[in-house]
Amino acid sequence: MKIGFIGLGIMGKPMSKNLLKAGYELVVFDFNQAAVKEVQECGAEAAASSKEVAEKSDVVITMLPNSPHVRAAVLGKDGVAEGAKPGTVVIDMSSIDPTESKSIGAALQEKGLDMLDAPVSGGEPKAIDGTLSVMVGGKKELFDKYYDMLMVMAGSVVYVGELGSGNVAKLANQIVVAVNIAAVSEALVFAKKAGTDPELVYQAIRGGLAGSTVMDAKAPMMLDGNFKPGFRIELHIKDLNNALNAAHAVSSPVPLTGQLMEIMQGLKADGLEKNDHSSIVKYYEKIANISVKRD
Ligand code: NAD
Repeated sequence: MKIGFIGLGIMGKPMSKNLLKAGYELVVFDFNQAAVKEVQECGAEAAASSKEVAEKSDVVITMLPNSPHVRAAVLGKDGVAEGAKPGTVVIDMSSIDPTESKSIGAALQEKGLDMLDAPVSGGEPKAIDGTLSVMVGGKKELFDKYYDMLMVMAGSVVYVGELGSGNVAKLANQIVVAVNIAAVSEALVFAKKAGTDPELVYQAIRGGLAGSTVMDAKAPMMLDGNFKPGFRIELHIKDLNNALNAAHAVSSPVPLTGQLMEIMQGLKADGLEKNDHSSIVKYYEKIANISVKRD
């Protein structure tokens, strides 16, 4: 099986390298020539366009920033659809709007091509060590066919349902993470304001019902005043924007997501969009006029 890989950014580069290490043949494309060269040096063949990637492969993975990039690379000029043989499957691993996954999938279907949406959670470290969580939507028989290949990049690969379901799961993940970070921020700022050491409050509550993976990952960053990403505010804004669109499309009110979007817009206005999303605490620190950072 020859795999096409389009999008060699923070995530796509290590993911493609893991496929090469596992012995798969890869043909790759990105606008960024330095990234292409780096993956080429690990054994991949370089293509001059997404169309050429599709011409030379049986299955095409895309790992691109957002819905418009996926639409352009797959359905646009010199895109995958122009070069793909009938029966080619596009596996989009980007985090995009699920309504767009369905729409791109329907356009591919008309050309005799198929699609899975398979976004990931875990970030760069898990992309490097091949332990991402992958959530997959599309035809079950295609999921079964590509399961082993996806497992090369992942610690878990879970089938969620029809096309678009992978991105619904990813957006659900992003809602839970954003609201959790805000709850941790609100609680630690309250503790400080009440004259109680936020570090000791964190230690006291982390083993109980309030404890969470988010709390253990983000509270120490807040207490250290360390906002190095991690996951950038600007990417989380992109995901919440997709969550708001996708939720409104099915008349599902998402009041907390709306609130978190406005908090993140405030952080962006303060020039913090490149910071880790744990800097949500900075919004709370500003309105309460206090800092939770250790002295
Ligand atoms: P990135 O910006 O680092 O990389 C995207 C790459 O796509 C770039 O190299 C860019 O040149 C390329 N690109 C854009 N349009 C293209 C086109 N039409 N044809 C070819 N190449 C094109 O992004 P990333 O951090 O690797 O994220 C990719 C996706 O994974 C995003 O949807 C993101 O939300 C998601 N994600 C990221 C993380 C993370 O921690 N970075 C974690 C989980 C999921």
